[in-house]
Amino acid sequence: MNALIRLVSRLRIATRLRASFALLLALPLLLAALSWQRQQALSHAYAHVVNEQADLLFIANEVNESATDAARKLLVLMGGAPENRQRARLEIDAAEQRLQDAAGRMRAHRGVDENAEQELDELLGNLRVFRSELAVATRTLDDGRNEAAREWRGSRLEPALSALVSETRVLRDSARRATVEELRRLGEEIERDGRLTLLYCGIALASGALLAVLVARSVVRPLEEAEGGALAIASGDYEHRVCVEAQDELGQLSASLNALALAVGERQSRLLELAGTDALTGMATRTRFAAMAGERLRQAADTPYALVCMDVDRLKTVNSVLGFDAGDSLLLGLAGRLEQLQGQGAIVGRLSGGTFVVLLPVDGHADWQFAVAQLHASLNHRHQWRGQALDLTVSIGVALCPGHGRHPEALMQRAEQAMFEAKRRRSEIALYDPEQEADRLSHLSLLSELEAAIAQGQLRQFLQPKRSLHDDTIAGAEALVRWQHPERGWLPPNEFVPFAESTGRIRQITQWMLEQAVATLAAWRQQGRELPIAVNISTLDLQDGLLPARIEAMLDRAGVPAHLLQLELTETGLMTSAQDPIHVMHSLRRLGVRLAIDDFGTGQSSLAYLQRLPVHEIKIDRSFVGGVDQDPKRQELLGSIITLGHGLGLQVTAEGVETQAELEVLQGLGCNLAQGYLLAKPMDLRHFDAWCTRAQDAEMS
Ligand code: C2E
Ligand code: MG
Ligand code: MG
Repeated sequence: MNALIRLVSRLRIATRLRASFALLLALPLLLAALSWQRQQALSHAYAHVVNEQADLLFIANEVNESATDAARKLLVLMGGAPENRQRARLEIDAAEQRLQDAAGRMRAHRGVDENAEQELDELLGNLRVFRSELAVATRTLDDGRNEAAREWRGSRLEPALSALVSETRVLRDSARRATVEELRRLGEEIERDGRLTLLYCGIALASGALLAVLVARSVVRPLEEAEGGALAIASGDYEHRVCVEAQDELGQLSASLNALALAVGERQSRLLELAGTDALTGMATRTRFAAMAGERLRQAADTPYALVCMDVDRLKTVNSVLGFDAGDSLLLGLAGRLEQLQGQGAIVGRLSGGTFVVLLPVDGHADWQFAVAQLHASLNHRHQWRGQALDLTVSIGVALCPGHGRHPEALMQRAEQAMFEAKRRRSEIALYDPEQEADRLSHLSLLSELEAAIAQGQLRQFLQPKRSLHDDTIAGAEALVRWQHPERGWLPPNEFVPFAESTGRIRQITQWMLEQAVATLAAWRQQGRELPIAVNISTLDLQDGLLPARIEAMLDRAGVPAHLLQLELTETGLMTSAQDPIHVMHSLRRLGVRLAIDDFGTGQSSLAYLQRLPVHEIKIDRSFVGGVDQDPKRQELLGSIITLGHGLGLQVTAEGVETQAELEVLQGLGCNLAQGYLLAKPMDLRHFDAWCTRAQDAEMS
């Protein structure tokens, strides 16, 4: 059966269907032709039987009647009236003629009708005898010998007539029997034909059914397989292949499906490859790295690994000052060094921007520091770009496997957290600390409360004065945010500002601080006090293109001149800004608002970058100021920063001045303004006003 299906499958479906339909049509036609032919034969046989036997019966009757008639007319010829004799003579001749004809027809029958042959022979013999006796009798009469004729008739003709009549009866009986026999045979034949027709019908039906099964199986099976293949491809099983045996249309369809699966599979793996490959460096992306690291950690479950996450320092500065080509070149330089690690069994990848990740095998838990320190040393280098030397340094966060987890995603997340911690602490390498998780969670809960804090007035604005070192007058104040938490008490900004920044809530804080500062400025103006207030602005605020317009509207509403409002932007914030902040800074400057760089000196910004910033003031970070009076080298450094600021035409403020000695050094170095606990700690408005009045009174006196 299967061999037959295989044979059938070699034909095209169209050919198969045409052949099947032709065969299905031919079978009934053949059947009809056979039936017709049989029916013809039977009706022919029937007609033959009827004609032959009827003819025999007719001949027998004819012979019987004519012979009897002739014998009777012979009597008239012997003794009838003379006029009757002549007629009788004619009638005897006519009867003799009929008998002759009958004899001829009987002879003709002899060759045709085998059954009646013997009877016909007998009858012919008897007829011949009768006719000769009749001829003798008529001749005798013609000779006028009536008596001899009469005697001849009684002795010879009569017995010949009775033998002839009895023989015609025999023939009639035989003809009747033959008819019955023939009809019975014909009946049997009709019955047999009926059975044969039924058999043919059965054969036709069986052939039709077999054909239907063959065609259906040769079409449906491959169709089902093709459908299964299409569904498998649709579900993403591109390895699936439809079994191609047939060379027909379905074979072609299956081959096309296989080609489709192959092409889609190849394209899919190409896409996956592309999605898993970083376009710039050709390194694995986060997803592919996670998959590769997961595989490695599963295979080498006993080997300790360090998952190292690193970020290129000052990449944004390089991008904004020297352009993206320089940044890309820096990244490619680092990628090249990282890829060399792959030979030592490490897996490397690029997460985003300047952030890279390495799964580094470490020999033992105690050795991770050595391995990571070596890695750090091998990555920090001086990169040459178009003749310029760029110092490439990275901040590294480390999570250990199995100590900090076994899952690559969790390890990456932890290493990233450690890296942020390293950046925050400005250290080169930081190890993930699970205890900081608790801090983060507590910050998270703080964060959810922050919004309510703004709405419920839990924020406070503190002011810290700035003093001019030239004429010893109060030159302004810095506004610093405080949160009076209902349960935790006073919270300093570093407890919530960094997290407010990372989630975008800082914009609401900035808005609130600006409104408070502008309200204070308006109130002071009414009191005749013209002191500027500086508000700290986060990097995120600088990405808000509408900030200048909002500030302008705020100042207009309160009737406060723009120069009384100052905005402080941290140096590191400016450098890590996702977008170039210079455009917004120019808009603010055009408003008349004064701009200052906060925490100056901590961000390692280049001179070229500084020159581009449209600021009025730099605020030297307090780490440069503390103890400056006791360290000549620091004095030198501070002096050069002040000179640099002045060289750029900027006012210079020193933050965190705590002692008179520090103040005097700053005065000696030509610093313009000072801010610090020596003058006053940050205080609320009421205390600041009181402090100000006292200080101004002292100035007057
Ligand atoms: P900052 O802008 O550099 O503010 C100066 C910080 O130094 C203030 O800390 C102030 O209390 C402190 N300080 C002032 N004089 C001395 C001193 O003589 N010695 C010492 N040790 N510290 C002194 P604070 O208020 O805790 O603020 C910390 C930082 O939080 C600020 O640094 C600023 O970057 C941020 N910050 C404060 N308020 C806001 C705000 O409203 N918005 C934004 N975006 N950041 C704010
Ligand atoms: Mg500040
Ligand atoms: Mg500062």
